[in-house]
Amino acid sequence: MAWVIGQQLRLYNSLGRRLEDFAPREDEVGLYSCGPTVYSYQHLGNMRPYVFADTLRRALRWKGIPVRHIVNITDVGHAVADSDTGEDKLEVAAAKERRSVEEIASFYTKDYLAAMAALNVRPADVYPRASEYVPQMIEFAKRLEELGYTYELPSGLYFDTSKSPGYGTLALLDVAGQREGARVEQIEGRRNKSDFALWRAEEPGVRRVMRWNSPWGWGAPGWHLECSVMSMSLLGSHFDIHTGGIDHRELHHVNEIAQSEAYLGDGQPWVRYWLHNEFILLDSQKIAKSAGHTLRLADLTEAGYHPMAYRLFLLGGHYRSQLDFTPHAMDAAQATLRRLVNRVSALRPLPAVATLASARELVPADDAAALGYVEQLDAAISADLATPKILAILQDSLRDTTLSEQGLRVVIGAADALLGLCLDTLDVSEVEGRRSVSDLDSSEVETIERLVAERTQARKEKDWARADEIRAELEHLGVQVTDTASGPVWELR
Ligand SMILES: [Zn+2]
Repeated sequence: MAWVIGQQLRLYNSLGRRLEDFAPREDEVGLYSCGPTVYSYQHLGNMRPYVFADTLRRALRWKGIPVRHIVNITDVGHAVADSDTGEDKLEVAAAKERRSVEEIASFYTKDYLAAMAALNVRPADVYPRASEYVPQMIEFAKRLEELGYTYELPSGLYFDTSKSPGYGTLALLDVAGQREGARVEQIEGRRNKSDFALWRAEEPGVRRVMRWNSPWGWGAPGWHLECSVMSMSLLGSHFDIHTGGIDHRELHHVNEIAQSEAYLGDGQPWVRYWLHNEFILLDSQKIAKSAGHTLRLADLTEAGYHPMAYRLFLLGGHYRSQLDFTPHAMDAAQATLRRLVNRVSALRPLPAVATLASARELVPADDAAALGYVEQLDAAISADLATPKILAILQDSLRDTTLSEQGLRVVIGAADALLGLCLDTLDVSEVEGRRSVSDLDSSEVETIERLVAERTQARKEKDWARADEIRAELEHLGVQVTDTASGPVWELR
């Protein structure tokens, strides 16, 4: 096929749990990624699915394959605890923060997009909002009802999973429709434990803030419905790749497939390739605690890390491996980034290399070694997006003295087209190391200790003005003092 450039791209398909050759249905790849529920800040673990999807997009671009990428914004329908009943996450957040649901959705959508931009994740082609697709969701559910896939309960309209012959294939559910997912709650009258809500009716006497009228009364759509409806609206009935976090593989995506294939009724798989990224384990007790809330990107930047260091940390592990987030790992990522930027800045500007074809073209004719690295990069990205390998190839090329300067430039540009670390533009000063106590020399420590002692004395003498003065002086030195039950402790900010 014309689009096959370099090595055959192979991706790990959760549907069947195996590596498969990737072959798009048409010239343009349709890609759908389950997006954020915009009721709070996205934590660091939430960033991984999008950096992963971005890597996939970069891989397709590298191969010269055009992509249309959709990321939905869930601003309605996602109930607390991912359940079929109960309050909507957005409504709970709005009540808690004393803001309207629209304000909540708009605020956290902006925050999400800002984090994506900081991580150099290329914007999706469309970010559809669930609240704008409710009429289509109602039509979709009506069609399922006409086809006999549903039944109605006082709590809403349910999808009967026993009528879906392949139900649960994605999650490897052994007895179709019978296994009860850990998060599935008890619902009066439900026929099968795996049945899920297409429409969540208002409970008697409870009026939702976000409510629509439907053939099943006033209420709101079920959580799974939006992804089927919006992806088909924007990518067509069938498309190539659906991505998301691995937790979606067990419930959300299982239900998306069941309702979509029932709706289409053409006997074809709805989506060919299902790709899932593993979790980030947040093992950074200290930072998380001092921040007083779930760790997010802003906490890292406040602590002196560059967002690209977090991106590098993510790419340092394969997307299908769990990654342990620790301050040590972040320090290592920032140090690696600093060394890379230092080394690369002398070689700027880098050539614009987005595709394998352009990299091959730009390598000097007599630089076989550089061409070798370009082909290695292609082999690595083609092998299920092996980003750790790409980082290793980049490091090898930087140490290789046989490369011509132009050849090396092309290799770096090509590696960064796949990694997206902004190696052409990052300033060395932006990725300075964080100072830690071990970086201080003894006289600096002495000065700090002396000032802290003087401040303690001033406080004892109730000389608050002097105590404040010393605190300001310490802050000027980048030192933060906290008064604890066992006396003052200081740390570098
Ligand atoms: Zn989804």
